[in-house]
Amino acid sequence: MKAERVLVTGGCGFVGSHLCERLLDAGAAVVALDNFATSTPENAARLLDRPGFDLVQHDVTEPFPAVGSFDVVFHLASAASPPDYLRLPIETLRAGSAGTANALGLAERNRARFVLASTSEVYGDPAVHPQREDYWGHVNPVGPRSVYDEAKRYAEALTMAFRRERRVNTGIARIFNTYGPWMRTDDGRMVPTFIAEALADAPLTIAGTGEQTRSLCYVEDTVRGLLALASSDYPGPVNIGNADEVSVRDLAEEIRSLSGSRSAVRYVDGAIDDPRRRCPDISLARRELGWWPSVTRDDGLRRTIEWFAGRAAAPAEEPVR
Ligand code: NAD
Repeated sequence: MKAERVLVTGGCGFVGSHLCERLLDAGAAVVALDNFATSTPENAARLLDRPGFDLVQHDVTEPFPAVGSFDVVFHLASAASPPDYLRLPIETLRAGSAGTANALGLAERNRARFVLASTSEVYGDPAVHPQREDYWGHVNPVGPRSVYDEAKRYAEALTMAFRRERRVNTGIARIFNTYGPWMRTDDGRMVPTFIAEALADAPLTIAGTGEQTRSLCYVEDTVRGLLALASSDYPGPVNIGNADEVSVRDLAEEIRSLSGSRSAVRYVDGAIDDPRRRCPDISLARRELGWWPSVTRDDGLRRTIEWFAGRAAAPAEEPVR
């Protein structure tokens, strides 16, 4: 993407902080809007020294402060890991509804390109496989996970309404499981949990039978996909993910072996409405955006394990005030 003024809501989170880094690398001026609901101030600390970066602590569900004018607005602010959104159910629904409305309003006033970080969770526990964008999903609207799934489905509907009625230049990315450095070890997602357990030689905890599948995309690839969508005028929705499907049991085994760990494996009850299979069809992204993932699972996991191992050995950093 060429140098521009960019707003990233949720810019201090896992994906958001990588996105801000890539934007700054490309010479953009970046404002991150974040209230640290689910991220650590350390994620922001590594960005604060970068020229062109500004952090505004703000809850996106409140009217936006005057933070400048923008060419592109990325809306990532939302709890994303199951323990986070189950802990913050109403906040998650509000980030998807009021937060998305505020971010769309800003894009409208600025005539900016708007990119929504939606999710594969809009497909729920999918009845078709792999998931294409024209599949409407299989979501339990009243189950505990619905606070996230339905927030994102509403956010997609609102984004399309702003496009149709207010002529906002919008794009919807349906992001599939993404992993990499700067995830929180305690965010409850599979990869950081397995890695933390493996590095501590503690038992790897598999929820359910382990036969359920996931398709993991390295964060660098996901960010390239979001940037490709932002640079286009394509409305989406478009899947951004890696089609390399793996069972949770095999993933645990790979992480144990790549970490050189002696961990055992233990099984606990599966989560309610946990999808059994998850794999994107990414032919649309290939065709419309010229995007596909390039980092193999082996390489991505090695890099991620190395990063977590380095952190475990490093002294604690100064917190951001
Ligand atoms: P994350 O929890 O690490 O980051 C989310 C960020 O949003 C955090 O910094 C958090 O503090 C901020 N935030 C939450 N509510 C806010 C609010 N009301 N006001 C301001 N800031 C708020 O999660 P992530 O993995 O980086 O996910 C980023 C986005 O990508 C989310 O919208 C998520 O739904 C989407 N997504 C991520 C994945 C994935 O695998 N990481 C998959 C699908 C979709």
